Amino acid sequence: AAKDCVKVAVRVRPFNKRERDAGSRCVVSMSANTITIQDPRNPQARRTFTFDYAFWSHSGYLKNRDGLFVAEEPGGRYADQGSVFSDLGQGILENTLQGYNATLLAYGQTGSGKSYSMVGYGPNKGLVPTLCERLFQAVKAANQESCQCQVFFSMLEIYNEQVIDLLSKGGRSPGGLRVREDQQRGFYVEGLRRVPCDSAAQVEQLMEQGTRTRTTAATHMNANSSRSHMLIIAQLKQIFTKENITKQSNINLVDLAGSERQRCSGLEADRLKEGTAINVSLTTLGNVISSLAEAALGKKAVHIPYRDSVLTKLLQSALGGNSRTVMIATLSPSDICYEESLSTLRYAERAKRIQNKAVVNESPTE
Ligand code: ADP
Ligand code: MG
Repeated sequence: AAKDCVKVAVRVRPFNKRERDAGSRCVVSMSANTITIQDPRNPQARRTFTFDYAFWSHSGYLKNRDGLFVAEEPGGRYADQGSVFSDLGQGILENTLQGYNATLLAYGQTGSGKSYSMVGYGPNKGLVPTLCERLFQAVKAANQESCQCQVFFSMLEIYNEQVIDLLSKGGRSPGGLRVREDQQRGFYVEGLRRVPCDSAAQVEQLMEQGTRTRTTAATHMNANSSRSHMLIIAQLKQIFTKENITKQSNINLVDLAGSERQRCSGLEADRLKEGTAINVSLTTLGNVISSLAEAALGKKAVHIPYRDSVLTKLLQSALGGNSRTVMIATLSPSDICYEESLSTLRYAERAKRIQNKAVVNESPTE
């Protein structure tokens, strides 16, 4: 299998009210795929990074009659939800239809635009709903030819190393669902609900249900949902009747917990309540990415600590394995968030070096 690197995109959002009220300054600039960030205490100190995509969503936009955020003028530089989809989502859709596994991860501090990019708000639909819409369009077209397609949808949350099924009524078995390992499947969540779907509307309804469960569960535990990871797993099974071949692809769509270091966010009290010092899954993800980046240099054998957290177990194939993987790193434009934004950019830079080995998952139809 050909090696392909994780594709990394960055996106910078508009100022929020808090930043505007504080009269904050934009410290981020972009030119083609290059992003530059300026240290507010030392304007001479600039750091420049290059990624596969850089999305400028900070300025040059207006809200149209339908409530959509679009470029002020045609061809303007503002990257709206549609252009993010054509750059990132379209490729994932095509890979999935070809039978590859695909993963999309959103990384960034709380409030930087992870959920906006992944799920979206109101009419500004994010990558996941648009991907599902296009997937069902493709499935419908294919089903009229000599192919039978099935789509399954699952949605879970990882909080404090516990797996919560966001689609099952009553949701939470005490202690959460178990993660098991299988020779063929790798790591998987035992007993996770897998809902057969045949329309984007149905998926949207499930996502709403899942989001409600997530919020209720967080309130119930007196917890903050920005500290949990949300993972959507969509599975596409394509049976080609003439060729007698079945292709199967998994899509992982991950809205990660806020990346802010706890010392900055004043969440000391939450931390005590949660009875844990750190977000084990997020820390381990960082360690896995760093070791994979080191392994990609190819100088020596490197141990990859997948087994150290629930998230990295479930994402094992997405990170260095059989998957085409995309990360979108989201940033606040503001000088107040400089430290966090710089740390997000460094993280994204390491992710860029990860090499995967994706193969088409096909076998004779049973
Ligand atoms: P996160 O999930 O990272 O905590 P959100 O996605 O909820 O953050 O975004 C925080 C706020 O910023 C939301 O009100 C959202 O509508 C707004 N926002 C984020 N990204 C954009 C964007 N690209 N364009 C317009 N508004 C955005
Ligand atoms: Mg969010």
